[in-house]
Amino acid sequence: MTKILLHACCAVCAGYPLDLLRETNFEPIVYFFNPNIHPKEEYDRRLAELVRYCKKQNIELIIEEEPKENWFEFVKGLEDEPEKGMRCHKCFEYRLMRTAKKAKELGIEQFTTTLFVSPHKVRNDIIAEGQKAANAYGVEFLDIDFRKKDGFLKTMKIAKAENFYRQTYCGCVFSVRKETVTMP
Ligand code: SF4
Repeated sequence: MTKILLHACCAVCAGYPLDLLRETNFEPIVYFFNPNIHPKEEYDRRLAELVRYCKKQNIELIIEEEPKENWFEFVKGLEDEPEKGMRCHKCFEYRLMRTAKKAKELGIEQFTTTLFVSPHKVRNDIIAEGQKAANAYGVEFLDIDFRKKDGFLKTMKIAKAENFYRQTYCGCVFSVRKETVTMP
């Protein structure tokens, strides 16, 4: 079994990647670093679901927190960008850089992210930022297509079976719209 650090944004998106990684001989360690999620009640709710699921699945979960102001500063000037635009690109950079750093610290050579699950995100932007982060820290980013072979349907099936809380927006305050959709 090869250890892999899996950046996870929420339990909904983590369910299927965890299954797939374990089926393909990886030992995933989940890493929750998402200072983009606001407000705090929402952040706590998503994290609590992930804590519950990792406990149930007996999977190690590493939680990293920091003041939300750092993330706001990082995406400053991009507040009005639409989803899938430059703000999201920066948001991927912020979270994946930290994931690569953590992988390096832990001596885990590979990392990936549950962000690949969502059809609302630009896959190539995630790959670009994942590879940039990998190069910066001397680890490897695995571009795994979690949507392939009905991955999204399987994700939703697990979410339903586990009765996960399902958010209605991506995460940041700028992604809260009147006409919300069920994410991921
Ligand atoms: S919409 Fe989602 S990915 Fe984009 S900046 Fe907000 S939280 Fe990050």
